[in-house]
Amino acid sequence: MQIVRKDVVVVGLGAFGSAALWRLAQRGLTVAGIEQHAIGHDQGSSHGGTRLFRIACMEHPSLSAIALKSLELWTALGAQTGETYVHQTGLLYVGNPDSKAITVPQQAGVPVELLTNTEVVERQPQYNVQPGQIGVWDPGAGICYPELSVRAHVAAAERLGADVHANTNVLAIEGNTVYTPTLAIEADQIVIAAGAGLRHFVPDLPLKHTPTPVSWFRPKDSADFSLAKFPAFVWDFSEEMGLWGHGSTADFAVKVGAHPLDTVDVEDAVAQAFPSLAPKPFDVKPCHVTDSPDEQFLVGRISDHVTVAGGDSGHGFKHCAGIGELLAQIVTGEPTYCPIEFMDPTRFAS
Ligand SMILES: Cc1cc2nc3c(=O)[nH]c(=O)nc-3n(C[C@H](O)[C@H](O)[C@H](O)COP(=O)(O)OP(=O)(O)OC[C@H]3O[C@@H](n4cnc5c(N)ncnc54)[C@H](O)[C@@H]3O)c2cc1C
Repeated sequence: MQIVRKDVVVVGLGAFGSAALWRLAQRGLTVAGIEQHAIGHDQGSSHGGTRLFRIACMEHPSLSAIALKSLELWTALGAQTGETYVHQTGLLYVGNPDSKAITVPQQAGVPVELLTNTEVVERQPQYNVQPGQIGVWDPGAGICYPELSVRAHVAAAERLGADVHANTNVLAIEGNTVYTPTLAIEADQIVIAAGAGLRHFVPDLPLKHTPTPVSWFRPKDSADFSLAKFPAFVWDFSEEMGLWGHGSTADFAVKVGAHPLDTVDVEDAVAQAFPSLAPKPFDVKPCHVTDSPDEQFLVGRISDHVTVAGGDSGHGFKHCAGIGELLAQIVTGEPTYCPIEFMDPTRFAS
């Protein structure tokens, strides 16, 4: 077995791990990243073409700073590569006036437009907006791209000198050494960002793996499709059901997800919310969410040489570049650019 020495080794190069590798390499550290599949694969949590991007975060107010950091880093990376990692297409929030979908974007410090029920119905007749529901238009929100971004993070890290081991399974982590079938990588610091696989390495973390499909629906009448008719949305449809998604010109379809997944049938939800869409999806892709008990991420140290990033709870992609920067700051002992206590992975220990 070959023995290699690095400052830092990153286990798992999905959303969080690929970004950590990039931000660590940016600091001139010697780093290695290990990924069991190909870079930008479709077996974990970071595939399916698109993710919603929002600075207004219903999940926790402190997340806005992390989304903003992602936007800043992706914009800078895009200036180097010529790619666009976030399209700020705008996003429509719909819900009752006291719902999170309506209150949070207005309190997030981003410029938004408040829409009455009549205005939402007039602007988006394809959305079966319920009586009493209103809207908030957030022009700075939009769409980001999981496979494109993961590959871009890894490529950026490689340009900065990182060693990348794709299609390489991490078998064990013992002390400061990470073992693959052919390598033992000794490192001062280890970052474990193994997504649904994080529990395998740190069984004490209270994580729950939830298979979460993404579904694409076509209009009943194809002439009925345009991006303007199906802008990105987050919709508190009722007390029992939330919906999110967006139209895509790539496949002339609307991507729709619903929550909570254990009680909502996505096909029923689409039939209620979008009468002009065919109720059966034309494509469904399996994906994975790793939930923590409070639906916040687990990002931080669990020992003097191990830092974890996981528990994505279904809302992590928009934050991943910013989380990668936080991981680099945690590992190097730099001050973090925003509070991180709410993501402390040891918070459930008591
Ligand atoms: C259907 C769906 C819709 C979503 N929508 C949104 C959205 O609109 N907006 C948003 O911001 N977020 C969204 N998310 C959440 C977001 O996609 C996740 O938060 C994010 O992708 C999680 O990244 P991760 O790095 O934790 O996991 P992953 O990207 O899965 O990365 C973990 C990596 O570790 C690797 N690995 C595991 N074990 C090993 C091992 N032993 N050896 C080597 N490598 C290993 C895996 O192969 C994988 O590549 C959605 C998620 C799903 C499933």
